[in-house]
Amino acid sequence: MGFEGQRKAIRGVSGHKRTGNEAVFRAANERLKGRLAGLEENGTVPFICECSDADCLQVVELAMQAYEGVRAQGERRFVVLPGHNGAGDNVVGEGDGFVVVEKIAD
Ligand SMILES: [Zn+2]
Repeated sequence: MGFEGQRKAIRGVSGHKRTGNEAVFRAANERLKGRLAGLEENGTVPFICECSDADCLQVVELAMQAYEGVRAQGERRFVVLPGHNGAGDNVVGEGDGFVVVEKIAD
């Protein structure tokens, strides 16, 4: 699309509704920015504990980077809350508020 085409596209969405749309998008971005700022502040993302207890829905908070690091280690590695590792789990690592286990039994 050339310059003239872009001008037409911009003109196409202009009109009395435009101010309202901008306000809506700006408000949405402000909310998003607030959430992202909060994420950066503590650096963690809530994940559900991956222990073998099917009823456990507790939250494990860890950095996205740490979680992805565990995922990259293979399908037998799981992130669980400290103490949620079972007899069939081999603890292979731990961080602030979580442990990484490797399933050694089914
Ligand atoms: Zn658990």
